[in-house]
Amino acid sequence: MRYTYCPRCGERLGEKEVGDEGLVPWCGRCERPIWEAFTTAVIAAVVNEDDEVALLRQGYISANTYVCVSGIMKPGETAEDAMVREIGEELGLHVKELTYMGSWPHKNGDMLMLGFCALAEKAPLTLSREVDSAKWVPFDQALPLIREGSIAQRLVKASIALRRGA
Ligand SMILES: [Zn+2]
Repeated sequence: MRYTYCPRCGERLGEKEVGDEGLVPWCGRCERPIWEAFTTAVIAAVVNEDDEVALLRQGYISANTYVCVSGIMKPGETAEDAMVREIGEELGLHVKELTYMGSWPHKNGDMLMLGFCALAEKAPLTLSREVDSAKWVPFDQALPLIREGSIAQRLVKASIALRRGA
């Protein structure tokens, strides 16, 4: 999101030449650049040693398809901390190993999603109230349950390839 007004003081932004960045949105009152803002989120394909992936159904996202654990990062948190926290909150699982898989811009650049493959113990899932249902799905049945072309589907596909190579 590109700001028109300074989010700190409300001054209308101008532009200023800043180093290699060229012209950037600038608040003359705060004397600082106001960079375009986006939200950073984390998303994981949670897998276990039996070649299964934990998929969730969240009514507020979609009634028919399954999604991966995801959540918004908090200021000051590392992406790894955020991912472990979200997996604990949403599924009640303990992460044994976290592998960074890549990042995907989402919602026209308003969000950046950092994707992980998270290896967890195969344990019963303890759901948060945000999650309507969740289940362990064998790798070979997972992809058709996830929306075609979605970040979740690409992440699960890449994570299955990673685990099969392991
Ligand atoms: Zn300002």
